Amino acid sequence: PRAALQAKTVAIVGAGLVGGLAALYFAEAGWNVHVYEMRTDIRTEKYSRERSINLALSERGLSALRGARGVDLRALMALAVPMQGRMIHARDGTQVSQPYGVFGECINSVDRRMLNEVLLDAANALPNVQMHFQHELRSASLDAGQCTFLDRTTNDSVTVQADLVVGADGAHSAIRRELMRPARMDYAQQYIDSVYLELTIPPAPKESPQAIEPGSQFVLDPHHLHIWPRKTYMMIALPNPDGSFTCTVFAPAPMLDAIQTPAALFDLFERDFGDAVALIGRDRLEREFFNNPRGPLITVKCGPYHLSDKAVIIGDAAHAMVPFYGQGMNCGFEDVRVLFEHFQRHGVSATDARQLGAALAEYSTARHTDATAMCDLALANYTEMRASVISTKYLACRWIERVLHLVAPRTIVPLYTLVSFTNVPYSECMSRGRALRKTSETILKVVSAVSLVGGLVGTAWVAKRAGVRGPMV
Ligand code: FAD
Repeated sequence: PRAALQAKTVAIVGAGLVGGLAALYFAEAGWNVHVYEMRTDIRTEKYSRERSINLALSERGLSALRGARGVDLRALMALAVPMQGRMIHARDGTQVSQPYGVFGECINSVDRRMLNEVLLDAANALPNVQMHFQHELRSASLDAGQCTFLDRTTNDSVTVQADLVVGADGAHSAIRRELMRPARMDYAQQYIDSVYLELTIPPAPKESPQAIEPGSQFVLDPHHLHIWPRKTYMMIALPNPDGSFTCTVFAPAPMLDAIQTPAALFDLFERDFGDAVALIGRDRLEREFFNNPRGPLITVKCGPYHLSDKAVIIGDAAHAMVPFYGQGMNCGFEDVRVLFEHFQRHGVSATDARQLGAALAEYSTARHTDATAMCDLALANYTEMRASVISTKYLACRWIERVLHLVAPRTIVPLYTLVSFTNVPYSECMSRGRALRKTSETILKVVSAVSLVGGLVGTAWVAKRAGVRGPMV
């Protein structure tokens, strides 16, 4: 019958990064797609300072983008800056490179807004996509497939009906709120004590001797993610294609709040980030430090992610995480790829959604395990980035793991490599990464013990040959 062949309708709430990619996947699969976004169209906005300016895009995000035919990945990557490792800045300005992979693997610094625009343009180019900006979700009867929006342009209330509702509306998701009761959702959120604040290292003027190499406007090596680890807080910087760097300070809120005067600001920054102050410039530092917003950092864990065959949440709406592994967006993009893998496995298509409930249930269970693991890994990486990267034990273990990985590249893979350069499920990354860390710690203990014994034996031998008698101290 004709009705059975009619394409299903999906209402995607949120036109951020993950909502944008989801719109493309659904549209390319033939669904009728309606996207509802509470803000104005980012493509028409002059400037928006929400969230970070740039993001690290790694393999999981890239794999998901490859699955969308409408994205010209080559053109996108031409605007990305590859980063092959961390550059650790000591207080005295000394810089030490710590490559991410042993085979030259890179993560990529991309402009958040540009990426969002690329996704919205690609989705908008398809005839079965309609975008509704300035539509804020106010309430929903998800079991009936109904959503009610406030149209901010007219102040009218608009109720729509869809076969499936996808909540891609971020960490403070309204769809998640509506899903909680009918889906009997478990929910936990945790703010960490640190907040973030963005600063800018401007590009050097063209042909300036300040640039690190001729023809470039970068004043720091652009192929690294720069870190100023200071144990209880840190600053990082990611390159932008225009030669600038976006710095992000992560520090306990009370510590930043206590800085009330330019003198206090310069005292701290000259002491801890002296080389960066010279590059940011004192005027800009003062202006940006006292005027730029400070963002909270939250982890959200919840489950299930779905309600029968009616609704599902993806991206930050399902699993907001702190940004220290650079995986929030990558994980959200992977949600979309994995969701469609489950659709395929269950034969769900735009015209046949009989197994949609089963596909969503399976997706929700599998994805929850992985997303929760990633939330935990992201929290743990804060300690690694602000403190461990300068600890001798950490560096020794990391070195051992890299050597083992070189010897057996397929079977022995460090945690960071698994997370950032493969599509291995996050929960498996976590267990394999922890097992490898135990092994490297054991090797380190054995090597230390052997070298201690060797040192003692050697000293005793030298002492004997030199005719030293009595206790050795
Ligand atoms: P969002 O980007 O929050 O988009 C949600 C959209 O829904 C928004 O457009 C919003 O306006 C809309 N919306 C909200 N409520 C409603 C409503 N009621 N009705 C209609 N629309 C609504 N991730 C990485 O992978 N790599 C990184 O390097 C990285 N760096 C980060 C640095 C910082 C400082 C922060 C804070 C995050 C970082 N992240 C990074 C995480 C990344 O920003 C998020 O994971 C990603 O933006 C999530 O995308 P999303 O589409 O799920 O949610």
